[in-house]
Amino acid sequence: MHPPLGWIDSELEALERAGLRRSRREAVPLANSRVRIDGRELVNFASNDYLNLAREPRVVAAAAAALETDGAGATASALICGRTARHVALEERLARFERQPAAILFPTGYAANVGTICALADSDDAIFSDRLNHASLIDGCRLSHARLCVYRHDDLSGLEKELRDCPRVRRRLIVTDSVFSMDGTLAPLRELCDLAERFDAMLVIDEAHATGVFGDCGRGVAELQAVEERVAVRTGTLSKALGALGGFVAGPQPLIEWLWNRARTQIFSTALPPAVCAAAQAAIGIVESEPGRRQRLMQLAAEFRTQIAEAGIDTVPNSTGPIVPVILQTPERAIRIAGRLEKEGFLVGAIRPPTVPQGTSRLRITVNCGHQPADLQRLAAAIKAAIESSPAS
Ligand code: PMP
Repeated sequence: MHPPLGWIDSELEALERAGLRRSRREAVPLANSRVRIDGRELVNFASNDYLNLAREPRVVAAAAAALETDGAGATASALICGRTARHVALEERLARFERQPAAILFPTGYAANVGTICALADSDDAIFSDRLNHASLIDGCRLSHARLCVYRHDDLSGLEKELRDCPRVRRRLIVTDSVFSMDGTLAPLRELCDLAERFDAMLVIDEAHATGVFGDCGRGVAELQAVEERVAVRTGTLSKALGALGGFVAGPQPLIEWLWNRARTQIFSTALPPAVCAAAQAAIGIVESEPGRRQRLMQLAAEFRTQIAEAGIDTVPNSTGPIVPVILQTPERAIRIAGRLEKEGFLVGAIRPPTVPQGTSRLRITVNCGHQPADLQRLAAAIKAAIESSPAS
């Protein structure tokens, strides 16, 4: 008889041989956009803390005060007894920030996407999903049991054809990231709204990497592209530019009421820790009152893009904002170059399949508003040197 878990070792070895095995290390977050790993202090170009709010003293103080009064955990799901005054206040604050009548919290952004899509569509419905959507949207589509059409990335005419050819269904959803998280490109929301309106579909967008970052007021790509009123459903996360944890949907009362009744990832999970709600609420206040953080971030990211272009390094065409990918094709090369950058004092994500398509392994560099121009210059030079010493084979 084989041991029941005996197959795992050989599967892990296969991952290792393909350069796809994940390993983990302990990170010590430090001030000034730095992190200590394996005893070395690195400039952190891998986090999604775009506005440097995770360690911001006002955010930390809000969390600490709430921890003291409200304890560590929420003890139950929101509908039982886990929804404290901190949760209510954050829901109201998010609704106000997003200029929507109401909002609902989820344990994570992942849960917000899965729960929302499954609440909106089932086997009577059809979903049209961009091929480069985040795993949480993909998993929501799959779990919903709706008829699923994955359209080529940004292929509006392909999407139009699929919408036209789709057999009669009860409801249609078009689902997309607003910022594609591994490419740093923006979805063409106006055109997607046009298609949604023409074909009587709901447009669902995930603003995970856009909240706090894009738009004059930081409401995301829908604000930037002036389509907030036309997008049916917007999901977001508190874990990236807001520096905390949790997901949310802000929208009209009936939508929020429906999610309270049908979003299983919300209903069947313990509510967020109250202290996390307090942190996120403080972070939203800073996003609103300090647009300079967003402006500095965009300025630094634009400068960095210019520097790497001048160094002859390709990024994804049309990528914009703080996510700067450098495509290196193979997983081995991505790992090797990220390793070399680490020796030079930079932490940069090496992203491999299945997170990105085969043949597009990459560095994913994320700029944040606490980086110094000199850090960015040094990083651009280090990437150039690392690529030159490790050519594609
Ligand atoms: N959507 C996108 C586009 C993401 O990149 C992520 C996080 N990687 C999520 C959703 C999930 O958010 P969270 O980390 O809050 O679960």
